[in-house]
Amino acid sequence: MQFYFPDSQDQVDPSFDFIKEQRSIYRVRQRDDRYAHEVIDPPPYDGLLISKPIVDGLFGTTAKYTEAQRNRLYRQGAKRFFRLDQRGDYLKIMGDCGAFTYVREDQPVYTVEEVLDFYDECNLDLGIAMDHLIFGYDAELDAKSADDVPEEWKFRQSLTIELAAEFLRLHRARRCQFEPMAVAHGWSPLSYARAVTQLQSIGYGRIALGGMVPLKTPDILKSLKEVSIALDPTAQLHLLGITRTAHVHDFAGFGVTSFDSTSPFRQAFKDEKDNYYTLDSSFVALRIPQVDGNTRLRRQVTAGLVDQKLARQLERDCLSRLRNYDRGNESVESVLDAICSYAELFKAKKDWSAEYQRTLEATPWKRCRCNVCREIGVEVIIFRGADRNRRRGFHNLAVFSERLHRELDRTDPRS
Ligand SMILES: [Zn+2]
Repeated sequence: MQFYFPDSQDQVDPSFDFIKEQRSIYRVRQRDDRYAHEVIDPPPYDGLLISKPIVDGLFGTTAKYTEAQRNRLYRQGAKRFFRLDQRGDYLKIMGDCGAFTYVREDQPVYTVEEVLDFYDECNLDLGIAMDHLIFGYDAELDAKSADDVPEEWKFRQSLTIELAAEFLRLHRARRCQFEPMAVAHGWSPLSYARAVTQLQSIGYGRIALGGMVPLKTPDILKSLKEVSIALDPTAQLHLLGITRTAHVHDFAGFGVTSFDSTSPFRQAFKDEKDNYYTLDSSFVALRIPQVDGNTRLRRQVTAGLVDQKLARQLERDCLSRLRNYDRGNESVESVLDAICSYAELFKAKKDWSAEYQRTLEATPWKRCRCNVCREIGVEVIIFRGADRNRRRGFHNLAVFSERLHRELDRTDPRS
């Protein structure tokens, strides 16, 4: 079971000084900043997923890549761009078209040639044919007539299959080197299975299942079961955007050999509570925002609602008491007091003190052996700025990878 991490140019600056909160003046972003696979050892994923809209931008949404980065990616190819050539050849790079970005359009926004050009120029290992998402799932439609299925869904499913056929035809004509993969979209177990059957008859041996992110796990499993009946014995499935480690054995049993997800990374700073992973649990990170970096706080200072000097005083107080606590020289209550007074000042939306107490008492960062926790210690648990938040995301990727391998190493209960 291979795990692909969708790239968004999330890197950390190794020169960042957590006490002074300064960077080295000699730092060159493209040369010095590090990806998760360069920080965590061994790399926490089997490959990267790069998405055309993330690289090029789409509909006025800015790309995650600067123009210089984009040019370098096309010029050097993805392996060198991500410095994978320096780590041995075992991390794969997969490409897709980011169907979510153009889901509201009638048709996908690229031509099949443009997509092939992108994969070719980036020198990828695997390329996913362009697809069009179906927003909806209704298993009961399997017992009804085809006329009951919304026209839009049927249109998007067959359009995706037509595009996959064109993609494979051109892939062969141009003798592309990357391995082609198609996407099956459906709205029910049988409709997913039908799409897979058609894609196999076109010639695909690797098929991704799309549109399953909002589905409940039993619905994913029911669809996979139906798909597995239609699946050729040598064919492989990829789950787009799904991370449900508790079910990897079931997934594998139905022919799934890979999946991708940003969740472990993004939860570090997007989730309400599950910000810091441990093997069996997760913890809330301690929100100590920068007076200058936090938009809410800055607005309140500008509006004269918050005294800037006092804010800075409380902020410093939080950080120093937390670091003292980490060294064994401060009590949990004292740290909580400081964080709560600071939170009161900028009118935090929620009182997190019970969750904070749990995090502080457990000190999970002290037991983690990942490179991030060993290097920056207690700083990893502070919800504050990209340098801490992204490192916590890297830590989560390391733990996620461990959780995944532990689950896979467990004897399959059915065998
Ligand atoms: Zn760690």
